[in-house]
Amino acid sequence: MTRDIPRLLQAIADDVRPLLDQGDVASYIPALARVPRRQFGIAVATVGGEVYGAGDSERRFSIQSLSKMYALALALQREGDALWQRVGREPSGTPFNSLVQLERERGVPRNPFVNAGALVVTDVLCRRYLQPERAVLELIHRLLGDTTVSIDAEVARSERAHSDRNAAIAHFMRSFGNLHGDVGAVLDAYCAQCAVAMSCSELARASLFLAADGVQPRGARVVDALAARRIGALMLTCGAYDASGDLAWRIGLPIKTGVGGGIVALVPGRLCVCAWAPGLDANGNSIAAAAAIERFAAAIGASIFAGEPSRD
Ligand code: GLU
Repeated sequence: MTRDIPRLLQAIADDVRPLLDQGDVASYIPALARVPRRQFGIAVATVGGEVYGAGDSERRFSIQSLSKMYALALALQREGDALWQRVGREPSGTPFNSLVQLERERGVPRNPFVNAGALVVTDVLCRRYLQPERAVLELIHRLLGDTTVSIDAEVARSERAHSDRNAAIAHFMRSFGNLHGDVGAVLDAYCAQCAVAMSCSELARASLFLAADGVQPRGARVVDALAARRIGALMLTCGAYDASGDLAWRIGLPIKTGVGGGIVALVPGRLCVCAWAPGLDANGNSIAAAAAIERFAAAIGASIFAGEPSRD
């Protein structure tokens, strides 16, 4: 099967080209508003160590909320299950940057992938590390065995200068006692972590531990097997904000999306695939990247719900 992957990825890159004019780039972060829309990349990394790509699979882009997978892994490594006293595990059914549930639910975010939940995760990292964004970056370096990935300082500054909504979320949670550190420091770290720039092939490789029970192939254990499976469960149910149900229905895999246009999907035990195209739908998910991953998962029969009927 892996012999056919390069051809499949090229066919997908050709197929989604008409979609590249659709959607809008994330204009609420001015540095991202300048990213040209007609770009597409896709890459696959297998647990056996192969990497395949098509289109702009080596071009780095802003990972934005994809960083939430790595920050969560780090917070679970350091904090363990205590984290779940401060963050829920339910889909939100609201936009990624919404405040509405927080008042009713007394400052406890629905899950670690909406902005409120990710800010609590960053607050945990702020307590554990002097430079929390460096800790996330260094985890990525260890996962890749390569230290060239970096934080795009201009994107970080641009988001930080326009972070009123995330600041409001953070202050609101602090008023309920669910954010312990300094709001400014949490926002600095969060915006820097979102501004890490990586390519599809780097993201596919760096995310393999989530498809391999917490162990990075040819590397060290990152989180225990249960934590990795649980991050996968959260990606399936909450990884694409209020489109999580629709994308689980279309793709049948744990995924995480980001407003930079990237989407990472896990095929447990086998591989990770990452697709990228900057044009976003109204939920902040890349239109062409979602279509590409849907097409890839269908072609290799990767849905986690696929199964041979048991003979017993
Ligand atoms: N940095 C973005 C924000 O907080 C992340 C959102 C995303 O990628 O979905 O608004």
